[in-house]
Amino acid sequence: MQTGVFGGSFDPIHHGHLIAARTLLESLSLEQVRLVPAGAQPLKGGRHLAPAEDRAAMVALGVEDEPGLLLDRIEVERAGPSYTIDTLRSLLAGGLEPVLLMGSDAAGDFARWRQAAEIRSLVEVIVFTRAGQPAPAGLGFKTVQVPLVDVSATEIRERRRAGRSIRYLVPERVLSYIETHRLYQSETG
Ligand code: ATP
Repeated sequence: MQTGVFGGSFDPIHHGHLIAARTLLESLSLEQVRLVPAGAQPLKGGRHLAPAEDRAAMVALGVEDEPGLLLDRIEVERAGPSYTIDTLRSLLAGGLEPVLLMGSDAAGDFARWRQAAEIRSLVEVIVFTRAGQPAPAGLGFKTVQVPLVDVSATEIRERRRAGRSIRYLVPERVLSYIETHRLYQSETG
């Protein structure tokens, strides 16, 4: 059976990610969806506001008690920039049948990814689009609709910096983690 590979910064994980992951799990009948926080992300200049260990810990809390969704620490543990091609090769070598899941914003950038053509030849790539928003045209990917949940990690970080609540945007346990570790209170994290 196929394993969905859902990569991102997860800085932090939020309900938009989780609803998309669960929808993809069900509508594509995947065995599982692995959420893969990037270690250092090449197209974001390697910068994140929260350290990789915190981002991974929050993903772990977000998928706790969620059958079929799990954290994969593969990119957090690998040294150097996180390239999806390396992740997919490792998963293939481990005997899994990965399907790469990408939001339509990530799909727009896909041509710049390392070994993009190789990725397409190795695994199935699915682009998920949010209901009511146009699918990216002309890229030739299969698309799946997920519910529109208008929340982003950027908004969550901005709300924190402004001292506003992020309750209901992230799972309760993630909220507690952010508060306990005082994440996203300033520009530098
Ligand atoms: P940022 O605001 O920092 O750019 P983000 O909220 O977009 O972060 P990422 O970790 O960059 O989150 O996203 C990982 C993947 O999750 C991307 O493929 C993106 O399209 C998707 N995604 C992000 N937010 C949502 C959402 N609200 N609904 C569905 N998918 C989402």
